[in-house]
Amino acid sequence: PQAYNQPKARRWDHLLSPEVMARHPCALKKAALNLKKPGMLSLGGGLPSSDNFPIESLSMQVQHLPLFGQAPAEVPGSDITMGKHDIRDKDGVFDVSVALNYGQAMGSAQMLRWVTEHTELVSQPPYADWQCALSIGSTGALDSALRMFCDRDRRDSVLTEEYSFATALETIAPLGIKVFGVRIDEQGLLPQSLDDILSNWDESARGARKPTVLYTVPSGQNPTGATMSARRRKDVYAVCSKHDLFILEDEPYYYLQMPPYDKANSAAQPGVVDVYSNQSTEDYLKGLVPTLLSIDVDGRVLRMDSFSKVVVPGSRMGWVTASEQVIERYIRLQECASQGPAGFSQALMYKLLDETWGHEGYLRWLINLRSEYMQRRDALLDACEKHLPKDVMSWTPPASGMFLWLRVDHTRHPHAGQKTILELEQEIFDSCIERGVLACRGSWFCAERDAALPGLFLRTTFASSSQADMDVAIHRLGQAVRASFGI
Ligand code: PMP
Ligand code: PLP
Repeated sequence: PQAYNQPKARRWDHLLSPEVMARHPCALKKAALNLKKPGMLSLGGGLPSSDNFPIESLSMQVQHLPLFGQAPAEVPGSDITMGKHDIRDKDGVFDVSVALNYGQAMGSAQMLRWVTEHTELVSQPPYADWQCALSIGSTGALDSALRMFCDRDRRDSVLTEEYSFATALETIAPLGIKVFGVRIDEQGLLPQSLDDILSNWDESARGARKPTVLYTVPSGQNPTGATMSARRRKDVYAVCSKHDLFILEDEPYYYLQMPPYDKANSAAQPGVVDVYSNQSTEDYLKGLVPTLLSIDVDGRVLRMDSFSKVVVPGSRMGWVTASEQVIERYIRLQECASQGPAGFSQALMYKLLDETWGHEGYLRWLINLRSEYMQRRDALLDACEKHLPKDVMSWTPPASGMFLWLRVDHTRHPHAGQKTILELEQEIFDSCIERGVLACRGSWFCAERDAALPGLFLRTTFASSSQADMDVAIHRLGQAVRASFGI
């Protein structure tokens, strides 16, 4: 609410693509808005009558406060049901007849209210006309955002971390948009590198117009696991303002920020209690590094949030936040594409997030999940301390997310002069597979496909394996590296 006294966001007409500027409101969606008028009889839109829906109700059992891990049968309130006519018959605010019919492309009013309130709690964007719209997850949101801000005929290009999310790179390249990597350290993007690239841009040498878009994953970056500090975020934002870059902030791991790894008191040790698991939700929110959205005075950020990593990936639901102009264009695009997330997802997620957990309960869920991930991270790091050859391997304990990025010092390899980094990476990867452990090769994430690799890296994750399996897996990985180096 404070934001309504602030100025509105800047206009982005000069950056929006001809494709997205050419979109007009969907005539049929616009016509449906007339149905809000009392007494209106519709012979207009082809909305099927809910009388003909074969689904009478939706129900599920969920984990519940205060003991999230407990079997739902023992916890009152864990059964959730949504009936066909809860609005008409039970004073409900959402029901099957609405959720499973056609709706507006920004998502149902019910779910949209929840994500807007949540964004207000977390980011309080500092300009007046910010808005949210539901997305079908960040994969789809990124595809839309790129179509909105990039155009191959303008020779547009995108900057990103020199190692970046592989699927993002695979989304950008076929659009005919070039990607350029910005140098990183253990905190992610280096503002100086960003500034140098933009200040010294040579259009003909680069084969692309000076970049107008930054795609970044500020917390628990995929694949490096890096998390930008508050200072770093401000510095990156300042460079983006200076060079008028629009920012695509992709934050699926934002809520998995965890306390630093303490080797002596690793959370994976039996009996070690996570003192942060009883943290108040206010303290949890205060402890999160501020979002780019929260410092975005210009309205130059389109933030992508996703329920994939913090509730379930199969919800295919998340949301985007940006200025009114940008969200309006985003909605125009969705009207002719996804039409927003499935009604089933919106119905069940609304029941869980709003009617069962509420904002406080959802934040408690995040605190609980953060503890789980911390325990997993510490188990993987304990295994690395135990099994990896530290003379040739190094790593930075991640402060968020689910990835650990392992650096292998290829310069110390006996064949360093004869073999390329890519060949050595292949050799170690093959040897890992032979020994029964899968890690991702660093080169898969290299932002600039044709550029020389900055180093030899492996991406590991603590998201899926058990603690015992992580120990065995890292032992095997250590053996593979030792074998390759002849240690
Ligand atoms: N962005 C990043 C950085 C990711 O790591 C992932 C998950 N692999 C995604 C986006 C995809 O998220 P979603 O399931 O919301 O499409
Ligand atoms: N598998 C599928 C089908 C995915 O869509 C994703 C992320 O989008 C992943 C796995 C996870 O990819 P990553 O390990 O890079 O997060």
